[in-house]
Amino acid sequence: MARNNLQISILGSTGSVGCSTLAVIDENPQYSVFALTAHKNARLLFEQCQKYTPVFAVIGVDAAAEFEVLVKESGLATKLLVGKSALVEVASSPDVDIVMAAIVGAAGLESTLAAASNGKRLLLANKESLVMTGDLLKQAATQSGAEILPIDSEHNAIFQCLPITGSSLQATDYNGIEKVVLTASGGPFLNTPLEQLASVTPEQACLHPKWSMGRKISVDSATMMNKGLEFIEACYLFDLEPSQVDVLIHPQSIVHSMVHYADGSVIAELANPDMRVPIAYGLAWPERIRSGAAVLDLAAQEPLQFSKPDLQRFPCLRLGMEAAAQRGSAPAVLNAANEVAVEAFLSGEIGFTEISLIIEAVRSKIPCEATPSLAIIQDLDRQARTLSKELILKEFCRGAGA
Ligand code: NAD
Ligand code: MG
Repeated sequence: MARNNLQISILGSTGSVGCSTLAVIDENPQYSVFALTAHKNARLLFEQCQKYTPVFAVIGVDAAAEFEVLVKESGLATKLLVGKSALVEVASSPDVDIVMAAIVGAAGLESTLAAASNGKRLLLANKESLVMTGDLLKQAATQSGAEILPIDSEHNAIFQCLPITGSSLQATDYNGIEKVVLTASGGPFLNTPLEQLASVTPEQACLHPKWSMGRKISVDSATMMNKGLEFIEACYLFDLEPSQVDVLIHPQSIVHSMVHYADGSVIAELANPDMRVPIAYGLAWPERIRSGAAVLDLAAQEPLQFSKPDLQRFPCLRLGMEAAAQRGSAPAVLNAANEVAVEAFLSGEIGFTEISLIIEAVRSKIPCEATPSLAIIQDLDRQARTLSKELILKEFCRGAGA
């Protein structure tokens, strides 16, 4: 990988991870931007195109007209593509070396799979696609020779703590690995009295104490569904049984995760909570490049604390762990119900504590398929979304939408 002019497609370039990826590229001119994509934010996508002059820009249908006017008026040479199939096109183009999958939610599934099926270096931030299709995504990468580099900070940390063996993943090949420990900040409601959780607002839920992120993952961090999804992600990425994965609350978010070995050694990765660190690692692996992140000053830090998570406070974490144990289609159904419930919470239709109730109800109504095809997963994803929306309307809706 140590060559210049590596071509990268950044899917979801206007989001939090997308913008951090461009910030790392600012520090490292050996990467050239091939494609940038956004769903609705035509103005920011246009500004990014002016700065990075990609060959292609992809925008969602609703914002296409606005974006087209901006490009025409500016005389920019970037070619405009629209919609889902264009995301797949820029993720699989033979001209592309690296794909940053930073679209949020199931909307990133097809393009992430396309990068994995076409031998790319896949920088995987879009954890939902791995949660939905873990086995299929890994099989696709193995067949095509794609490299999956985890960008989620915990999985990136674990990856950094594993011995390098030439293959980028597969912890089971390594002797002596006892377990991995995912750290979790605990989010904004770690110490909120339980009786207040029902009335917390989307703004409070999105105020993460340590990380600045998109709204969906911020709510997932507040419910700790984010750690539930990451638990599943760890099992798939590193071929681990759920019994080999632990979760520890670590409010300072300095230790990003760790690996326990048979001799009692524990290897951890530490850094400031800044996504530019895992992004730079994924881009350059196995080399190291500058990320632009601040140097970690441990002496200036508050003491590092660790504790066990409270599954009563965070039922979504339990639901994630249960889906990881079931495997098959269970994680995809969990993910779909969560996406719908989080959206309903963000738009004021349901309360915070109803998110887990909806997911649990949907999970209990849709049977788990042990080895689902992509078509079955997509069908169950649709069923779970429909069921979640029905439940919200019939049983949980506050009639707000405000
Ligand atoms: P975000 O909401 O800030 O950005 C999402 C991006 O996806 C935007 O560019 C948006 O235009 C695009 N997008 C949204 N819906 C789309 C659709 N239907 N079709 C096409 N594009 C669409 O999200 P984020 O915080 O950057 O997170 C992105 C992914 O990375 C998520 O899967 C998240 O779980 C994961 N992740 C994020 C962080 C973080 O620090 N933000 C950390 C770890 C993992
Ligand atoms: Mg994470």
